[in-house]
Amino acid sequence: MRFAIVGAGWYGCHLAMALDALGMEVQVFEQHSRPFHEASGNNQFRLHQGFHYPRHHGTRMQSRDGFLRFVERYPSLSGPIRHNIYAVPTYDSSMDFSTYRLIMTATGVEFSELGTSPVTLQHVSGTLATQERVLMMSRARDYFQRKLGTRLVLSHRVGRVEETAGHVMVDGKIFDFMIDATWGHLTQPAIEVFYEPTMLLYYEGPVDFPAITLVDGPLCSVYPTEDPQIYTLSSVAHTPLGQYATSGEARARLAEVNGAMVQAKVQEMEAQISHYFPAFRDVFSFVGPQLAIKTKPVGNHDDRSCSIARHGRIFTVMSGKVDTIFTATERVLSLLEMTVSASGETETTLRDDIVTIVA
Ligand SMILES: Cc1cc2nc3c(=O)[nH]c(=O)nc-3n(C[C@H](O)[C@H](O)[C@H](O)COP(=O)(O)OP(=O)(O)OC[C@H]3O[C@@H](n4cnc5c(N)ncnc54)[C@H](O)[C@@H]3O)c2cc1C
Repeated sequence: MRFAIVGAGWYGCHLAMALDALGMEVQVFEQHSRPFHEASGNNQFRLHQGFHYPRHHGTRMQSRDGFLRFVERYPSLSGPIRHNIYAVPTYDSSMDFSTYRLIMTATGVEFSELGTSPVTLQHVSGTLATQERVLMMSRARDYFQRKLGTRLVLSHRVGRVEETAGHVMVDGKIFDFMIDATWGHLTQPAIEVFYEPTMLLYYEGPVDFPAITLVDGPLCSVYPTEDPQIYTLSSVAHTPLGQYATSGEARARLAEVNGAMVQAKVQEMEAQISHYFPAFRDVFSFVGPQLAIKTKPVGNHDDRSCSIARHGRIFTVMSGKVDTIFTATERVLSLLEMTVSASGETETTLRDDIVTIVA
């Protein structure tokens, strides 16, 4: 079977490797001259375990299981974090510390409760230390580029997709199936989504400084990156630059970003983190912004799980977090098997198995 995969982010690259391992022929089309140029190369690089999603069971389950599978499948593509703290603010969190801790205990993820935090925090009622890791993004980019080799077609923006009898044509080339792994930028995912342009901030700081994540609600976090002295500062309240119905509108918004907007975000986000971690400005110095687009499901819920839809010969990926790439593979294979077995199989019933004995 020949698969065209559009998009060389985490999802497209992982799906290509998984299908290739099963003996399928794959070709990955990427519009940029390198993989991981969009959201996969511009995010907070957190390998989630579920601690960020106390309000969504399905997302936590996918992250908890995906984390373990990720570490096993790609051992060199994430790294440990010496101190990784989740802290629950006393007044600004949507849930109290005891409820948060109870949800995480019920989730079955490992953590320890911190009596004393390795950094001085204020307005916080409790802290947990977790084993969540950091994604090694540049290593991942090189890894997939090397492993996929000529199966990765760079600088090719897919524009025309047509389904014909028994095939799908991708820019005039014939395939059995196509997977849209563009996070909704080629075709809209099956669920209703909106596009959120985002600005994270890069900071320089000391090696091995703890990761600090404040939960739950419109809060903020400082997280390490693959570079031991570079950290990201993210804020649920201030990172988004709006919500748009189309990918084109979100891109146009990103193109408007200027120095004044960046400075305003620096002020807002530093003020927010300093409220809980007063030494932030003494420890970290601003380096520059990071811009990306997040595709999110419509609704006032916290569902960030991954889902796959299939229409005819075209699969559409609604990406969750990076750790949920395994859910994507399973769903693609499952939807594939369903049609393969549906075609040409005759259904039998229990009555067919009842033995007839001639008297
Ligand atoms: C600000 C921010 C912070 C985040 N933090 C985290 C985090 O800490 N941990 C985590 O797990 N997840 C995080 N995420 C989510 C994570 O980034 C996504 O889950 C993941 O990158 C999605 O990967 P993807 O392959 O689906 O999409 P992408 O990485 O966006 O890849 C899609 C690819 O498709 C290509 N493409 C689009 N259209 C075409 C076309 N017509 N032809 C050819 N190529 C095309 C694009 O160039 C792109 O390379 C964050 C996201 C954002 C925006």
